[in-house]
Amino acid sequence: MTAPLDINRRKLLEAAFWMPSVQTMVSRKSSITNAFVSAIIPTINPSAEEIQQALTILGMEPTDLRCAYCGDRATEWDHLRPLVDKRRPTGFISEIANLVPSCGKCNQSKGNKAWRVWMLSKAKLSPTGRGIPLIPDRIERLEAYEQWRCPVRVAFETVLNAEEWEAYWKTCEEVISQLRTCQEVADAIRARIIQRIRQT
Ligand SMILES: [Zn+2]
Repeated sequence: MTAPLDINRRKLLEAAFWMPSVQTMVSRKSSITNAFVSAIIPTINPSAEEIQQALTILGMEPTDLRCAYCGDRATEWDHLRPLVDKRRPTGFISEIANLVPSCGKCNQSKGNKAWRVWMLSKAKLSPTGRGIPLIPDRIERLEAYEQWRCPVRVAFETVLNAEEWEAYWKTCEEVISQLRTCQEVADAIRARIIQRIRQT
């Protein structure tokens, strides 16, 4: 038999474990909306000269790409101005004037938030929340980046007619509504599985 745990040890142990978050159908709601938006966003590949200009503004070398928000090693390029707002496209597209090197943590935590508000927020994984140094310097560089040149912004709804545009978003709503129904079915199945585990 194991010895009873003292209270501090118990707290330590309990803090050492966390259950993986349950990926439900409903928790995919915003990723479905994001997918409907990003699927229609054009991408423009930059020239080597443009990449050089971008990295110069950010004070980076191509061989040592850093996250523009926190300084960690960059693993991706993130949309500085979000592509989605209130479940609709903002009109910004995927082009270098609207992309900065980012680490996965920052990219995920920032989501569709405005970059400056997010950087200064105390959100768990935001640069401020993580106690990253030199935040004012990083903000200054990003402001210079924003000033670099005017990004393309398209009023997508004017490219199509209103009916086509609404039909597209109606499809999105239908997918989300079907997912909700699927979640109810999944909840019922899960309850039965738990019941079976308890019986054995
Ligand atoms: Zn980062």
